[in-house]
Amino acid sequence: MRQKIVAGNWKMNLNLEEGKALLMEIIDANLNENCQIIVAPPFIHLSQFGTMLNQSRISLAAQNCHQQELGAFTGEVSASMLKSVGVECVILGHSERRSYFFEDSMSISYKVNQVLSQGMRPIYCCGETLMQRQENQHFEIIRSQIREGLFHLNEMELLNCVIAYEPVWAIGTGETASPAQAQEIHSFIRKTIAKDFGELVADNISILYGGSVKPDNAKELFNCPDIDGGLIGGASLNVDHFAAISHSF
Ligand code: PEP
Repeated sequence: MRQKIVAGNWKMNLNLEEGKALLMEIIDANLNENCQIIVAPPFIHLSQFGTMLNQSRISLAAQNCHQQELGAFTGEVSASMLKSVGVECVILGHSERRSYFFEDSMSISYKVNQVLSQGMRPIYCCGETLMQRQENQHFEIIRSQIREGLFHLNEMELLNCVIAYEPVWAIGTGETASPAQAQEIHSFIRKTIAKDFGELVADNISILYGGSVKPDNAKELFNCPDIDGGLIGGASLNVDHFAAISHSF
């Protein structure tokens, strides 16, 4: 079943005390009860947040994991470690990871497998750069990112994934895709999925938009028929903005 989702990606912001204070504010905030709320803090916060969110309807997400199950990978964190502290979802393939850490869709597909094997949900990010859009390559880029990252899955596995369309040129820039631009890509993603997996799967997968979503633009984005919510960066660090975005459906 397609779900409405608002997920906050805190990125590398807030130390543990600051993070706990914001999480307490979010727990106490007036959030939309008709959508799933997800919070993705830095790794170091996850264990304590898992305890704080026990009994809460807010879901805990990580921002990445390693593609292997365990072993000699200094500095890395496995999907099973995330699961063991109460993580339910893992953001994978964020454009910052693709560009700064050279992740590609193929290696991210292994992470998708790890996350699913632990019974968690991948939030699989895709998106084109400004140059790719200007050169009219955006459809092809999105198609290959989702095909390489997700199309090895079976129907049930794919339905356990959430897709986040995040045009790179709109992340953290203050520039948002227009509702028409975002809707066009979301609809294209559903059509691409429908070709290989059928209409039912395409209609039931949740596809989020990410890229400078704020309280004042969330409503028109979330009103688009193929947009099921948002992956929110900067605005998720402000409880009032995050709560207002959750009420934008
Ligand atoms: C993000 O990091 O996924 C994001 C969309 O960031 P921002 O909302 O700040 O553009």
